[in-house]
Amino acid sequence: MHAAVIDWYRRHARVLPWRSADRTAWAVMVSEFMLQQTPVGRVLPVWEEWLRRWPSPADLAAEPSGEAVRAWGRLGYPRRALRLHAAAAAITERHGGRVPDDEADLLALPGVGAYTAAAIAAFAHGRRAVVLDTNIRRVFSRTLQGQALPRPSMTVAESRLARALLPADDADAAEWNVAVMELGALVCTARAPRCDDCPLAARCTWLAAGRPAADHRPPGQTWAGTTRQLRGAILAVVREATEPVDVAALLRTTTGPVDGPTAGSSGKPPVRYRRALAVLASLGHDDDRVRAALDGLAADGLVQLEDTDGVGARGRAGNGVRTVRLPD
Ligand code: SF4
Repeated sequence: MHAAVIDWYRRHARVLPWRSADRTAWAVMVSEFMLQQTPVGRVLPVWEEWLRRWPSPADLAAEPSGEAVRAWGRLGYPRRALRLHAAAAAITERHGGRVPDDEADLLALPGVGAYTAAAIAAFAHGRRAVVLDTNIRRVFSRTLQGQALPRPSMTVAESRLARALLPADDADAAEWNVAVMELGALVCTARAPRCDDCPLAARCTWLAAGRPAADHRPPGQTWAGTTRQLRGAILAVVREATEPVDVAALLRTTTGPVDGPTAGSSGKPPVRYRRALAVLASLGHDDDRVRAALDGLAADGLVQLEDTDGVGARGRAGNGVRTVRLPD
């Protein structure tokens, strides 16, 4: 298996900047945070902008966490931006600004779980580590266990099997991990595996069994009408605003014409900001849901709500004004 998959990888792997010979460990770490739940094509431009702006953990740690949320843009699951910012601060404080190479040290960082720690150890530092992402799990479940899909939760047997398959040498193990992952991403895909092009076709248990259907369905991810969608739309407005957003005006946005809570420094709301307002308006949620979503975003540390008594954000003496902005 090793020779077949690694040979295929060397001939077919995508050229990705976080795999280049001159990549830094930090560049790999940023990519690993971004690639959780988000496809490569959407990650690439945001990753490039992050590395240009924050080439080291210390550069990111020196900025307010709100800037990380702003730069996260539309990648989704924005709490990852806060966790990456917190991890950058911890690396700066505890490790002299150098991304650790030991899995235990990596696991102790904010937002770093077992998968991410193993992936950073393997792909950033060339260490022998058991990397089990959804692509690798699918390849193993088909070739070795004859199952169309791995179980929804990782099993001990799976992890044991992956460890048994890991080459003994650090560099070989790191290449094996990335090669199986790439095979799962490009050939052994979830919906339409291309078995005719697969280097493991001759030894694949699932293919030999006639590709039996899965005995369970992968958990679906609905989006339209969800609180996640509403939170994303609100956060986009706050992200694109050039000053704190008046919550009362934000609520009006969801029921009436888009009047723009902030004008921006030019006196005219920026285009991207107006677009974000229009998206929020199109969702048509009631005030209670918007308020609850705002509270949820604040509880997660993604925004800050502020109440101003007396002279408010718009200079209205005597009126309390509630505003929302990205965190410090
Ligand atoms: S033969 Fe088909 S199912 Fe088996 S590993 Fe290759 S692509 Fe996946």
